[in-house]
Amino acid sequence: MSKKIVVVGSCMIDFVSYAPRLPEAGETIHGHKFVTNFGGKGANQCVAAAKLGGDVALVARVGDDVWGPKYINNLKNEQIDTQNVRITENSSSGIAQIIVADSGINQIVIVAGANLSLSPKDVLDSQPLISLAKVLVLQLETPVETAIEALKLCKGISILNGAPALAQYNLELLKLPSIFCVNESEASVFTGLPVNNVCEAEIAAKLLISKGCQSVLITVGAEGAVYLSNDPSKKLLHVDSPKVKSIDTTGAGDAFIGALAFCLANYDHISMENAIKAACIVAADSVTRLGTQISFPGPEILQNVL
Ligand code: ADP
Repeated sequence: MSKKIVVVGSCMIDFVSYAPRLPEAGETIHGHKFVTNFGGKGANQCVAAAKLGGDVALVARVGDDVWGPKYINNLKNEQIDTQNVRITENSSSGIAQIIVADSGINQIVIVAGANLSLSPKDVLDSQPLISLAKVLVLQLETPVETAIEALKLCKGISILNGAPALAQYNLELLKLPSIFCVNESEASVFTGLPVNNVCEAEIAAKLLISKGCQSVLITVGAEGAVYLSNDPSKKLLHVDSPKVKSIDTTGAGDAFIGALAFCLANYDHISMENAIKAACIVAADSVTRLGTQISFPGPEILQNVL
C-alpha cells in the first residue's frame, strides 16, 4: 500500500517538569507542574503533514515499555500508517527528560532508546513503501546509516533534515537528498561558519551547494527561510515568514518540514518558492500556540494559499 509521504525517523516522549529553578548537582527540589508530550523530530514532522491532510506513513521504532504502544496509538489517532513502526524488545522508548525553570531556561537529557535500533534492515523491509513515496523525509535522531539506506531507495523527492547536526559526516548525507534542510545553528555546525542571519545563511547555503548538495533550505526563525539549488539558472530565494506573536517556537522547524513535504507531495507543479511560503505560514501559525504536535494547524491554514 503506497503512501505519498513516508517519514523515516524518531519517536520520543517528552517528560517535562516545571520548577522554580534548575536543581544543583545532587539537589532535589519540588516542581509545580508535570506534563508528558509526544515528540521526536520524525514523528513531529509526520504529524505536521498528517494534520494538513497528508497521506503519511512512519518507519520508526519504539520500546517495549508502556510508552511504545501509547505512541503508536497517538500516531494512529492522527491517521498515520504505523505498520512500519516496530517495537524493540528489551529497550526503552526514546525519551527526553526536560526541566523548565520559571525563568524559561531548561535542562534536557535525551535517551534515544529504541530509536538507535532503527536499522538499514528496517528500511530494506519497508522498501516498497519508501520507493513508491512521492516525498521521503528523514532526520538524524536515528542512525545515519539508516538514513543513507533510505535515501538510496528513494525514487521521489527526498528531504533530509540535518538535525541534530553533525560536525563530521559522510558527504553522501549532503549529496543524496533532493533537499538538505537545516536551521541556523545546524547550518553553522555543518559548514563551520557563523549563521545568525539571512545574509550568513545565504553564504552557508552556497558553501553547502559547493560541497555537493542538490538544494539547500536554511530556516532562519522569524525571518523565514533561504533556498538555493545547484541549478545555476535558479536564483537564491529568501522567503519571509508571516509576522506573528510568538508564544512557543518548539517544533517550528518540524511544522515547516511537515508542511513542505505535504505541499510537494500533493501539488505536482508547485514551485519551491510557493511550497516554502506555505511551509512558513504553517510554521509561523504553530509558534502562536504552546506545545509541539498539539500546536500544528489543520488544513484550513492553507485554504486560500495553495
Ligand atoms: P527550528 O525550530 O528548527 O529552530 P526555525 O527557528 O528556523 O527552526 O523555525 C522554522 C520556521 O518556523 C521558520 O522558517 C519560520 O517559518 C517559522 N518561525 C519560527 N519562529 C518564528 C517567529 N517568531 N515568527 C514567525 N515564524 C517563525
